[in-house]
Amino acid sequence: MRIVLLGSPGSGKGTQASKIVTVFSIPHISTGDMFRENIKNGTPIGLEAKKYIEKGLLVPDDVTLSMIEDRFSESDCTNGFLLDGFPRTLVQAEALEAELEKNEKKLTAVVNLDVSDETIISRMTGRRVCNSCGSTYNLTYNKPKVENTCDYCRGQLFIRDDDKQETVTNRLRVYKNETQPLIDYYKGKDILITINGEQDASDVFNNIRKALETVR
Ligand code: ADP
Ligand code: ADP
Ligand code: ZN
Repeated sequence: MRIVLLGSPGSGKGTQASKIVTVFSIPHISTGDMFRENIKNGTPIGLEAKKYIEKGLLVPDDVTLSMIEDRFSESDCTNGFLLDGFPRTLVQAEALEAELEKNEKKLTAVVNLDVSDETIISRMTGRRVCNSCGSTYNLTYNKPKVENTCDYCRGQLFIRDDDKQETVTNRLRVYKNETQPLIDYYKGKDILITINGEQDASDVFNNIRKALETVR
């Protein structure tokens, strides 16, 4: 299965991605996580990406594409993958299609999480992330059992730099201008599945799972 998860920042892509990859046994590829890992390790990609991420802007396509193309060449991607946060521009979507075509492959489905702006703002202000395993929590909707501590690995939770109010507003604007057009792009290819992302995370997941079982 080759799945793309589409949705505005904070729509629940990461939360759903962890559930989907467990059930369908495919690798989880999150360009956001890859950039944060590069930033943490001070790599050239990380230094370049940081300049954009902290302003709430997209990392330029050439940087993003060279990073993801390296990832696709790893052996765990042969039987499928779940892309979380990629593609985010039409240029990236076309590059993805060209990459798949080289191997006579196609996307199985694009899952679009539909969530209102009001919900997004409230979710992002309460988001906390584990500094060790990357698990995501929310102070309102999905609290860790012990304050500031990851349930799975006991890592410390932190607030993402780009979850500040001004940056969130910017990210929503960038999403509308650059990423939202992908909804029509994939609708036109007849592979778009839109899911109501306003429900409890477990209900969102059940709907995604049902939909994916019919297309796999
Ligand atoms: P969210 O979905 O909450 O916005 P991500 O973790 O997916 O967060 O991405 C964080 C940031 O990393 C984005 O705001 C953007 O700056 C950068 N980024 C992630 N994926 C891409 C991409 N495919 N193209 C360009 N920039 C990206
Ligand atoms: P994305 O990867 O799209 O940016 P996340 O999965 O990180 O989104 O979710 C953003 C925030 O909203 C996190 O704090 C997460 O715990 C919370 N969240 C995710 N899904 C739901 C949901 N269905 N209901 C309430 N809160 C949610
Ligand atoms: Zn953890």
